[in-house]
Amino acid sequence: MLAALALAVLLVAVVDRFHGHSSLAFAAAIILLMVANAPMLRFNCPRCGKNAFFCGIFVIPWPNRICTRCGQDLGAGHGKNADG
Ligand SMILES: [Zn+2]
Repeated sequence: MLAALALAVLLVAVVDRFHGHSSLAFAAAIILLMVANAPMLRFNCPRCGKNAFFCGIFVIPWPNRICTRCGQDLGAGHGKNADG
């Protein structure tokens, strides 16, 4: 995600340098970010479907370990069960 963001910024900067201000490069960067975010946006809570990367209205670059809506443990909870 952060690498994709850096790549997108770099792409815009490079194309901007060689071709002047280009909305095409900007569009390409947006598409690149969308592609990079596609798997991230599918990471939803198995119980209520809330996206693990959204904390309220904020998008966070790392997934919540516990669903902020229903409290479902979103981590790889196989084996360890702390619920006791
Ligand atoms: Zn949930």
